[in-house]
Amino acid sequence: MPSVESVIKDIKILGATEQEEVLNYLEEIIVLGSFVTEVTDEVKENRFSRGKVCPHCDHDEVSRNGKFNGKQRYICRSCRKTFNDFTHSPRYNSKKDTRKWVLYAKCMINGYSIRKCAEIVGISVPTSFYWRHKIIDAIRTFMGMGSVGGVVEVDETFFRESFKGNHKKSKNFIMPRKSRKRGTKGRKRGISNEQVCVLCAMDRVGNIMTELICKGRMKHTDIERFFNDKIDGDAIFCTDSHKSYLKFAQNTGVELKQIKRGRHKEGVYHIQHINYYHSKLKKWMDRFNGVATKYLSNYMYWFKWLQYFDTEKDTIKSKYLIVQSHTSHCNTKLEDFKTRKAIFI
Ligand SMILES: [Zn+2]
Repeated sequence: MPSVESVIKDIKILGATEQEEVLNYLEEIIVLGSFVTEVTDEVKENRFSRGKVCPHCDHDEVSRNGKFNGKQRYICRSCRKTFNDFTHSPRYNSKKDTRKWVLYAKCMINGYSIRKCAEIVGISVPTSFYWRHKIIDAIRTFMGMGSVGGVVEVDETFFRESFKGNHKKSKNFIMPRKSRKRGTKGRKRGISNEQVCVLCAMDRVGNIMTELICKGRMKHTDIERFFNDKIDGDAIFCTDSHKSYLKFAQNTGVELKQIKRGRHKEGVYHIQHINYYHSKLKKWMDRFNGVATKYLSNYMYWFKWLQYFDTEKDTIKSKYLIVQSHTSHCNTKLEDFKTRKAIFI
């Protein structure tokens, strides 16, 4: 058996990358391992902070109903359905243990591909895909659209419409346009209907809103729909010189500071944070080699979530991701993926 001293001696002669691998390994076995009970307890605590609620019908009169497979079961006095602490959560009905879920979350924090996540966690590629989107579906429910206030930077960005993954699995899917090789530019120049418009808003205390709003050029009505009831108090919007913002401001009475093309700042009013956000987002998205439009919203939420917890350690983030994705009731089923459509607000 090697002594601690000899192990440390060996670690010392490793390169920086290998040392980091050792650290990651230790983190996994020590920290993530200890998270398992913490995660379970925190989910219970969060889910039932205002008393037990039925995940099927939201009724609050529930009683204990024995144990099943060692887990406490409850019954709803209204709809008579039973449930446990994890019903309608990503992990519900999963035969894999919590450790794997926490490890999976860590892979997501690192932004690994579906395949790489599958290899590290020891699950199949389809399961990896399924877990990823169940977790983000739940995170989307947990976070919601959010709201912004005060000085708000607003800007839109575009992603090419993609039907990736659609045609292989479905016999009924008809490609709405001629297929093109992945990675090549769209035929039309500038902004076309083959591009999906994502609107982002960010205030100075760090609240972020990000959603798919339309295909092609955005109109003031798209912006109005996006911000409907989502602006806290008096807000001052900073945008580029796009005309739709002007019309939006006129219609809603929101104060607008448009930064003229070629200028970066007008005092405290600028769009530098949102520009930086978009450049980070694009760079982060590059690794996925084009995302199917029907999952784009999930990727926007995943990135938004990562920004909120930017300064936390990876292990803490892994725990938060699992706890938060299991707190709200979200019931994504395998068959839902087949019929899924892009989520525009
Ligand atoms: Zn019920």
